[in-house]
Amino acid sequence: MALVGIPYDENSSYLRGAATAPQKIREALHCGSANLCSESGIDLGNHALFTDLGDLEIKGFPAPLETVELFAAQLLERQVRILSLGGDHSITPAILRAYSKKYDGLNLLQFDAHPDLYNEFEGNRNSHACPFARIMEEKLVKRLVQVGIRTMNSHQHEQAERFGVEVIDMKSWRPGIGFDFSGPLYISFDMDALDPAFAPGVSHHEPGGFSTREVLTMIQNIDVPIIGADIVEFNPLRDTSGITAMVAAKLLKELFSKMNVNNKRVIS
Ligand code: MN
Ligand code: MN
Repeated sequence: MALVGIPYDENSSYLRGAATAPQKIREALHCGSANLCSESGIDLGNHALFTDLGDLEIKGFPAPLETVELFAAQLLERQVRILSLGGDHSITPAILRAYSKKYDGLNLLQFDAHPDLYNEFEGNRNSHACPFARIMEEKLVKRLVQVGIRTMNSHQHEQAERFGVEVIDMKSWRPGIGFDFSGPLYISFDMDALDPAFAPGVSHHEPGGFSTREVLTMIQNIDVPIIGADIVEFNPLRDTSGITAMVAAKLLKELFSKMNVNNKRVIS
């Protein structure tokens, strides 16, 4: 399993800053104030499967999102499962283009305040407001389940219907709601799924979201193999106390641990 940073935020529609997230999450992860253990006791600091590959080098050529896809494809060829740190949400289709070539019938779970289903946003089809429209159009996954949504408008509602997206919106979410995935799962975690009280370091503050505990519990209750994940949209420029970096580092530990435990269970 490999950790990789994707310092790229050129498709952010409102504020830049997410490109500096990977380094800030690493600093929080290795900060002396906490250890590297997940809540299930897996120690990332002493785990043979945990490798940090550093940040992907993004240049003008090949195009940034192609670079992301190529890099993901190379890792998948070597049987590496990817935990990536964005970057804005536009990186997710690039990663999933690589995944879809390797995995049939992929399930996708998106934590987000926003559906990100715009056909285009301000003239940009790669905008971070559009990634899940691209993923569904290109049929990169079998199912998309969105949780935490609290900004659905009529255009995106139509898009969700058209693509058969399963939306668990925030107003109807209740603790204990489970997911019924039956095959390999990819998790895309937009930090603004959390309430801004818990994670203020995001570009789009959308009150009324999850607590940190609620998302950790949802992740810990997943019982299918997790073959990859991304943590996106953390914007350190908005994170005055550093708490959002710690929350992202905590999610990283829990996601890594869950990927590891669930996959082992399937292999043995
Ligand atoms: Mn969002
Ligand atoms: Mn998003």
